[in-house]
Amino acid sequence: MLTNFKNLKELMSRYSDDNVCRAYLEQVRWNGNPVCPHCKEHKPYKLNDGKKYRCRNINCKKNFTVTVGLVFENTKIPLSTWFAAIYLVTAHKKGISSHQLARDLGVTQKTAWFLNHRIRETFANESHAQLDNIVEMDETFIGGKWRNMTKKKRAEARQIGDNKVPVMGILERGGKASLKVMKSLDSFQDLILSHVKPTAVVVTDSHPAHIGIEESFKGHILINHSNDEYTNGIYHTNTVEGFFSMLKRGVYGIYHHVSPKHLHRYCEEFAYRYNYRGIKDNERFVLTLQNSNGRLKYRELISKKRA
Ligand SMILES: [Zn+2]
Repeated sequence: MLTNFKNLKELMSRYSDDNVCRAYLEQVRWNGNPVCPHCKEHKPYKLNDGKKYRCRNINCKKNFTVTVGLVFENTKIPLSTWFAAIYLVTAHKKGISSHQLARDLGVTQKTAWFLNHRIRETFANESHAQLDNIVEMDETFIGGKWRNMTKKKRAEARQIGDNKVPVMGILERGGKASLKVMKSLDSFQDLILSHVKPTAVVVTDSHPAHIGIEESFKGHILINHSNDEYTNGIYHTNTVEGFFSMLKRGVYGIYHHVSPKHLHRYCEEFAYRYNYRGIKDNERFVLTLQNSNGRLKYRELISKKRA
């Protein structure tokens, strides 16, 4: 019932009315049993406007709607626009720029940018899988502030690796992946320990930061890239490198540049897309709605600090 549309056209014709969208969201979020988001009490009173509920807990008694605590809260953007945006952002294999999203939805670029970032925030809820079996790990560097550079300057910056942010990728072969923006390469080990089960065989390059991790896992295979050694029988890091190329095609091709402040969100977006590559676009849409409680405030989004 939840995936009662097959494509964007069907989604938009079925969910063009905000009351219909709201009823659908209630179904996805509460499965017919509304819960107060403030105190978790069940069976609230429904108020006459058809949108609001009032909590029956006498210590709470707060009014709420289905969007409280979700990414849609406190925006004037119609739910039908949110639905179409979620579908577009999650269905495009390489992501969609806010300029394109603005044109597709008939909203301003600023609105589209905000939609894109809030939708990305929902991906973070899903990125903490524990990896096992053969786990490939590698690092890559994503370029920073090239916005105002000429092409020639950018090429130079790429050469010398200026302004680049290290990103670590870990991936279970045939399973899920995770991307993390690193403050320095030294914090690798903590990340591996928190994301990978001890029963895994971990494949890494021979970076000194990886020395000693064999004690925490069933096995540790080192691939020496500086000797042009990229495979060691079934052990290699080709899968995670393929995943990095996808990330880079998206970041450089679709988004053109990504500021270090927002890079972790793009990383989560690409990991999410990779991890749910096997499910249909309509299922990914419902999954994203179910995870839509990662509300990002506008002032957090535009703040100078790296979140
Ligand atoms: Zn309550």
